[in-house]
Amino acid sequence: MTTKTVEEMHEAFKAQGVPREHLAFVCPMCGTVQSCQSLIKAGAGATVEEVEKFIGFSCVGRWTKAGPPPGRPKENNTKGCNWTLGGLFQCHKLEVITPDGKRQPSFEVATPDQARELRERNK
Ligand SMILES: [Zn+2]
Repeated sequence: MTTKTVEEMHEAFKAQGVPREHLAFVCPMCGTVQSCQSLIKAGAGATVEEVEKFIGFSCVGRWTKAGPPPGRPKENNTKGCNWTLGGLFQCHKLEVITPDGKRQPSFEVATPDQARELRERNK
């Protein structure tokens, strides 16, 4: 399990160098890189504010009826899966430590290359 503080998350996102709606996470179950823009395109909400509660927590595949995750994460997967971190099984690899000391499960932060590639696809 990796842990990151909120500040470290911000640093990782800054390194992606993309606007807020394109900041990217990777689903730990299927490997799909996704951003707020991905969720908006999938119909999870109309604005960044509306989909923010899902990003990094519920896979975009939940809104595209992608079905269950593959046996293990796939490289270059774009399909998504029906996973959410709120369920019975704990499969996340990252926990974010909030300022008040709570640990929140989160999808991992994508690399700058992954974030930029996704932004191009989501234009
Ligand atoms: Zn997924």
